[in-house]
Amino acid sequence: MIAIQNYINGQFQAARSRSTLELKNPSLGSVYGSLPDSDVEDVLEAIQAAKAAFPSWKVLSFEQRFDLLLKLANGIEARMQEFVEAESMDNGKPQWLAAQSDIPRAISNLKFFASAQMNFPSESHHTPGQGLNYTLRQPIGVVGCISPWNLPLYLFTWKIAPALAAGNTVVAKPSEITPYTAFLLSTVCEEVGFPKGVLNIVHGLGGKVGQAIVESKDVKAIAFTGGTVTGRAINIECAKQFKKVSLELGGKNPNIIFDDCDFEDMMATTVRSSFTNQGQICLCGSRIFIQKIIYDKFKTEFIQRIQKLTVGNPATEVNIGAVVSEDHMHKILGYIELAKEEGGKILTGGKRFVPKGECENGYFVEPTVIEGLGHLCRLNQEEIFGPVVTLIPFETEDEVVSMANSTPYGLACTIWTENGKKAHRVAERIDSGIVWVNTWMVRDLRTPFGGMKESGIGREGGFEAMRFFTETKNVFIKY
Ligand code: NDP
Repeated sequence: MIAIQNYINGQFQAARSRSTLELKNPSLGSVYGSLPDSDVEDVLEAIQAAKAAFPSWKVLSFEQRFDLLLKLANGIEARMQEFVEAESMDNGKPQWLAAQSDIPRAISNLKFFASAQMNFPSESHHTPGQGLNYTLRQPIGVVGCISPWNLPLYLFTWKIAPALAAGNTVVAKPSEITPYTAFLLSTVCEEVGFPKGVLNIVHGLGGKVGQAIVESKDVKAIAFTGGTVTGRAINIECAKQFKKVSLELGGKNPNIIFDDCDFEDMMATTVRSSFTNQGQICLCGSRIFIQKIIYDKFKTEFIQRIQKLTVGNPATEVNIGAVVSEDHMHKILGYIELAKEEGGKILTGGKRFVPKGECENGYFVEPTVIEGLGHLCRLNQEEIFGPVVTLIPFETEDEVVSMANSTPYGLACTIWTENGKKAHRVAERIDSGIVWVNTWMVRDLRTPFGGMKESGIGREGGFEAMRFFTETKNVFIKY
């Protein structure tokens, strides 16, 4: 059994109350460890540690901070296989996916922001005849980073790396459902001698630990990735305190397929953009709009490919692993039932999948494709966050733009066409923070990342994240 501990002021410790929560392996459906069920007292202790560490952390040179962040990245890299297995066990995702994507990306996040802080420019403006302005971008103080369960270490480091690089100290809370790799990262901190109190990791429930971080007057900014409902509650609390907040929230992303696309490229990528990580990526294209002329051809080929996807034990070479928890599995299956009630036709999938052997009690859902639903029904408006996509035919550019923009979300969109003019036109009209043309989920860490409407507030990535995690101050000097 694994016993996860809090990491506060460089110490590993249980919750003060000693109470714990169960850690479950979703592919086996069984408990494999525990984590602290921390309380407000644990959070306050972490905040005090972060406050005390701030004065010495913020004055480190760029090179010193670079070296320390790089040590964390290298420390993860040196224990790659352990991190990969932990991520897969905790989340249910296939090990190959954690090895190809999650853990390498966590390493890149740390390396990227270690270097970004060295290259982060400050502006100066000459006011003719009067003087010179220059801009300071200073660390804020103690910041809170709260991350979800779908890409656990990937998104945890996406928050803490720029926060630390910018000179802040951090109190962080990973999802209570997937805390294992954040805990392993705290053991790397100890191994490499990361300064005490600079990164504090408090485990436990969102409603206790997350809320205490958000409510504390000593935490000056909150970077949150998670669901829109939680994001709204956090935003309200931050507004009361005039606290800086960055929210990366849910999505219901359109995948728009025009008849003049490169069919083979589109098909292979659409299988990935629909079902990678069991569809539990905020960027997955869950609403697939297909131009009528190729609708039947698309449907036939797509279903053939989906039926070949393998589901099961994430430690093997399957395409699709377990969804993250029993509750989440029931939520997804509930949406599939709703699809039927709303008049949808299940073209493939639609049920819980029960693998033979040791994973028979795991939480697996068949990759599911549904057609026949209007774009305004609940199934096409609400985020399911599982291996479920809908097919929606369209005729014209205007029609598809209007349907694509019809949800409260605005995170990401994919457009498939070989016509460059059309691609630019549609990209400009789509309400989303990210648009991919003829590809999906290609990320350059220098680019702004985030959503419009209920998909979030603010942008992270590159210097956008450095700007979020610093206070801007203009200094004017009279000639
Ligand atoms: P949640 O909003 O449920 O949780 C996210 C984090 O917030 C968890 O650590 C959670 O803790 C914590 N939390 C819960 N309640 C509170 C609270 N009142 N105050 C502070 N923190 C709280 O999201 P999920 O973990 O279910 O993640 C899935 C969601 O994340 C999806 O909607 C998905 O679209 C979104 N997401 C968005 C991304 C983006 O970049 N836009 C990227 C990835 C995911 P606990 O787990 O203990 O409840």
